[in-house]
Parts: sequence; C-alpha cells; structure tokens
Amino acid sequence: MNIENLLSNKKVLFSMEVFPPKKAGSVETVYKSIYGLRSLAPDFISVTYGAGGSTTQREKTVEIASLIKSEYAIEPVCHLTCIGATKQEIREKLSDMKKNGITNVLALRGDMSPEGSRGNDFAHSSDLAGFIHEEDPEFHIMGACYPEKHPAAASMDEDIKNLHIKIDAGVSHLITQLFFDNENFYAFMDKLHKEGIDVPVEAGIMPVTNKGQIERMVTMCGATIPPKMQSLIDKFGDDNDCMKKAGIDYAIEQIDELLAYGVRGIHLYSMNQVDTTKEITEAVMPLINHINNN
Ligand code: FAD
Repeated sequence: MNIENLLSNKKVLFSMEVFPPKKAGSVETVYKSIYGLRSLAPDFISVTYGAGGSTTQREKTVEIASLIKSEYAIEPVCHLTCIGATKQEIREKLSDMKKNGITNVLALRGDMSPEGSRGNDFAHSSDLAGFIHEEDPEFHIMGACYPEKHPAAASMDEDIKNLHIKIDAGVSHLITQLFFDNENFYAFMDKLHKEGIDVPVEAGIMPVTNKGQIERMVTMCGATIPPKMQSLIDKFGDDNDCMKKAGIDYAIEQIDELLAYGVRGIHLYSMNQVDTTKEITEAVMPLINHINNN
C-alpha cells in the first residue's frame, strides 16, 4: 500500500531506516539485515542515500529499495539528496525509482562538504521537492525536520519558516532528526501547530547501543544529550552489553511516551541492527496496535 494511503488508514505509522553498505561489494550484509527486519512488518523501510555522512554507494539506494518491495512486499522509501546534483541526474534517479515501482521519496538537501561541488540546480531541499512534484506528481514526497533546529539555521523561527517553503513545494510528510529528549519534540510540535504546519510528523528514534556511536552522532547532528541519557553513558558506556541494554530500554521508554502523547509515527533508525530493532519493535508494537485498532 502506498504511504499516502497508509497515512489515511492508520493513526500511527511505524517505519525503519536502513543504509547501503559503506564498502563496495558488501551489499549482501544489508540484504541479510533486511531479511531479519522483514518479519517485524514495518509500514515502510527507508533507504538512505549514502551511509553515515559518506557519499559512496549511493547507486545502491534504489537497488536495495527495489528488493524491499519485490522480495518482502514492504513499501520502500528512497532518500535522495540534491546538493551538487544536476536536474538531469535527479530526473534519471526518479525514472529509475519509477521503473522499480517506487513512488515514495525523502527529498533532502544533503550535507555540505567543503570539497564537494554545490552545483547550480538545487540549493535547498525545497528546490528538490518542487522539482520532483513538477516532474511527477505521483511521488509521495517526504522531508526532514529538526526538533532542535537544523545546525545551520540561525533560529528555530527561521528553520520553521523554511519548513513552510518545503511543504509549499510539495512535501506532505516529515521525519525528524534523531533526538533523545521528548520535551524538545513536544515544544517543536507546539511551534509547528502555532505556525499552521499540520502535515504528519514521524519521530526519528535512534537506540544508543555504544558510547562511540553516540559521540559520532552528536557531533554529526548536534542532538542534545539529556542528563538521564548522560548518566547511562557515564555508568555503562565502557561495558558494551550493559550500554546496549540501557540504550534499548531508553528507546522503548522514549517511544512509549511519544505514543501516549499522540505522535503520528515512529521512525526507527535501525543502523542495520536486526537484534536491537527487533527487541524495540516487539516491546512497542502492542501499544501501536492498540492505538491503531481503537
Ligand atoms: P534543507 O531543508 O535544505 O535545510 C537545510 C538548511 O537550509 C536549514 O538550515 C534550513 O533552515 C535552510 N533552508 C531550507 N530551505 C530553505 C530555503 N528555501 N531558503 C533558505 N534557507 C532554507 N543525508 C544524506 O546525505 N543522505 C541521507 O539519506 C540522509 N537522510 C536523512 C534523513 C533524515 C530523516 C534526516 C533528518 C536527515 C538526513 N540526512 C541525509 C541529512 C541531511 O542531508 C542534512 O541534515 C542536511 O544538512 C540538510 O538536509 P535538509 O533536507 O533538511 O535540508
């Protein structure tokens, strides 16, 4: 079922994100992860464009998304970034997606790299969303949003003004950057509501399973570590098994609270980790099913 239809049929969506392999030739490990995730029956699985801030293996995104659809009958979403790309390149990507029956795209700007070319065709994700919408209105266009504001935005007000532009350009569904403090998400949702932004917003949740990973993530996206998470890291960070358990428990609690608040969707950054994703999904699914069935 197309995601547009899912949104009208379900009160809460549950989705997951996977990334392509970082090294050439290791796509089988990603397929193995997806094989493990399939039985969790997420509403959709999104596939990043590049992995962990790297721009390599981008050509694998459509291939992996296509397998998710054809082998496991799960709706895929292709992430697509535009910075440095030409209109013709984007046109070819969209055509490749359509040939593979993929009509859901997460339209992103991409990170600015000092060495990479910015190109002339696209400056912001709103330019990409507008282009996709004009090229083919059949695409369900999703976008990113930032409960703690995008690191480059001068203020939250400016970021939300730009979010309006993105939505006017054709984005009809948002996924948040990862966050660890639900209070930031609630404050963000209040602001969106006041500004008249009412498209569905899925909360992006990343389980912290080791100390190194959180340090990298915080540097990359600037998420605040609340005191409760910090004390878990201080206490268990040097013991991998304990940190993993504490991180999984934290993510489950975070999701339970978001569900009670009335979130429209949970997007789990799976990091291609089947065991962790399975444990979290099995713990939160009874609440999601309850909400969707009542
Ligand atoms: P934009 O929406 O363009 O926003 C970037 C900055 O520009 C913000 O400060 C915003 O306020 C400002 N801005 C936006 N529109 C305008 C406008 N019209 N005029 C003036 N200013 C404007 N990166 C990847 O490389 N591959 C991925 O697969 C990937 N997946 C992601 C998935 C999610 C859910 C998220 C949250 C991020 C993802 N990223 C990915 C990272 C993303 O590319 C970076 O966060 C990037 O820095 C910004 O992308 P964006 O689409 O939010 O940009």
